[in-house]
Amino acid sequence: MSFRSGQGIDFHRLEKGRDLWLGGIKIPSDKGCIAHSDGDALLHAICDALLGAAGLKDIGHQFPDTDSEYKNIDSKILLMKTIAMLEAKGYSVVNIDSTICLEKPKIAPYIDDMKDVISAIAKIEADAVSIKATTTEKMGFAGREEGLAAFAVVLISK
Ligand SMILES: [Zn+2]
Repeated sequence: MSFRSGQGIDFHRLEKGRDLWLGGIKIPSDKGCIAHSDGDALLHAICDALLGAAGLKDIGHQFPDTDSEYKNIDSKILLMKTIAMLEAKGYSVVNIDSTICLEKPKIAPYIDDMKDVISAIAKIEADAVSIKATTTEKMGFAGREEGLAAFAVVLISK
């Protein structure tokens, strides 16, 4: 069996009056991400990590934001398409570790639901999906609530 690792990072600006989607879950918030898709930074970071691990370039290459097919798209569909691309190369996901960096809202109450969504799409146990949350202690763009960031590391095998 061979193993490959990958890492992904995503950033989005936040704006009042938009829906906040993270990990495939809509989270009550007065601000949401500005994006061509639904702006789910966590799923985007995970897609990028998976694509990187499999040698499939990145999310911007596979799902260009100039393509109207992906306008306002549910990022769960992007993750499903990413998993299908990995499977076409004979890979399956071993585990996913991730961190969301934002000032508010608190996402801890939603993490179990996010893990259920992501593990179902990635075809792994919920226990193999880790989602952590942190703030930047009020520093920088995340601390000023101008935006958020998500980081992911994955292991895949075939
Ligand atoms: Zn994104």
